[in-house]
Amino acid sequence: MFKKVLIANRGEVALRIHRACKEMGIQTVAIHSTADEDAMNVRLADEAVCIGPPAPKDSYLNKAAILTAANITGADAIHPGVGFLSENADFAEMVEDHGITFIGPSADHMRVMGDKIEAKETAKKLGIPVVPGSDGGVTTDEEAMEIAKATGFPLIIKAAAGGGGRGMKVANSLAEVPEALSICRTEAKAAFGDDAVYIERYLGNPRHIEVQLIGDGQGGCIHLGERDCSVQRRHQKVIEEAPSPAISDEIRAKIGKTVTDAMKKLGYKSAGTIEFLYEDGEFFFIEMNTRLQVEHPISEMICGVDLVQEQIRVAAGEKLSKTQDDIVLNGHSIECRVTAEHPETFMPSPGLISDYHQPGGLGVRVDSHLYTGYSIPPYYDSLVSKLIVHGVSREECLARLRRALGEYVIGGIETTIPLHQKLIEEPDFIKGDYNVHWLEKLMGLK
Ligand code: ADP
Repeated sequence: MFKKVLIANRGEVALRIHRACKEMGIQTVAIHSTADEDAMNVRLADEAVCIGPPAPKDSYLNKAAILTAANITGADAIHPGVGFLSENADFAEMVEDHGITFIGPSADHMRVMGDKIEAKETAKKLGIPVVPGSDGGVTTDEEAMEIAKATGFPLIIKAAAGGGGRGMKVANSLAEVPEALSICRTEAKAAFGDDAVYIERYLGNPRHIEVQLIGDGQGGCIHLGERDCSVQRRHQKVIEEAPSPAISDEIRAKIGKTVTDAMKKLGYKSAGTIEFLYEDGEFFFIEMNTRLQVEHPISEMICGVDLVQEQIRVAAGEKLSKTQDDIVLNGHSIECRVTAEHPETFMPSPGLISDYHQPGGLGVRVDSHLYTGYSIPPYYDSLVSKLIVHGVSREECLARLRRALGEYVIGGIETTIPLHQKLIEEPDFIKGDYNVHWLEKLMGLK
């Protein structure tokens, strides 16, 4: 097992990984920018190294600085967390070339799945159902129009390198295709430095259902059931729950097997998530995330598995500590992503936390780096806390969530807690009757 792990991230996820390491008796190294000197993960880590100024490109994306920090502290592994370099195959390769273990999948698997066109091709070959659309990339207007005719309308043009809900453009008719293609390519080039795009049928009322898996690259792969992440704003998840109110035990077992069979064939090692759109009883692959996800705790809560620890163990060369039969889903879990933003306008609200009181009690988990007197820097993602509740039933879970949101005090800044309080009182949400358009429709955005 590793003696010392460098955590190449910040915020709540850095703290989450620190906690997993400590419970395994592993020393931790925090890296941080000059803006994060007072961060909780930096305070708690065994060692901390400042790797640069606030701008992510100079610090959390600065591969050479991070590797240097690993070298000088003698870390034997690097956990990349979520975002930043977590899906950067070149970084994973660089880390391994320096004799340090990258806690994640192989660089090759990251490359294949990082390109959404290649990912779809691979998924198809592995027997995973995909959204109908173009076979590979689309460049010219003529090509796009041909595929559009075959795909039907509405359709969506998506960036191969897309992520974070960016680089997607819907076209409702043939006449809209050339402009949508041109806008999508320009945006993709600007945001991701790659203008490769592809076409998919635009599903009208899908739910976003994703399957959490973990493989050991030695023939073992298990799934931890699904998460329903359909409550979205701008294609970004706001509330997630597990299991999905729309998925039966039978459907879960079937899609779970499809996913684990595919990943065993691929020889996938580490945690990963296969994201699907689910409509009229059918699953359509949209992408695979080759890393830990923000919403991983809800799967942990219902499965009793610490995904980060399992990820560390398989990275160290161990086999999975559990078989599929060991995974028994227990109760229900919901996560609210609390961001430092105005609950109605979504204006960013960084700054000093004047009071902090987090909820507790049975079935309540708060993954957050906040504390009284901490100042949220303005340079990074607005996610400041994940409130995760667990209950024996969905009903108990909702009652607990209502109670926990009511207790939560984050003073001095605006947060989205009032939005979450409102959403969980919506009759459709209470019934579990929502899809990916639900939130935006409710907010009058669609
Ligand atoms: P990203 O990598 O940017 O998160 P995804 O491909 O995972 O992009 O899609 C994010 C969200 O965009 C989905 O959850 C869904 O709401 C919407 N979306 C993507 N593809 C389609 C599609 N073919 N039809 C309908 N909605 C889609």
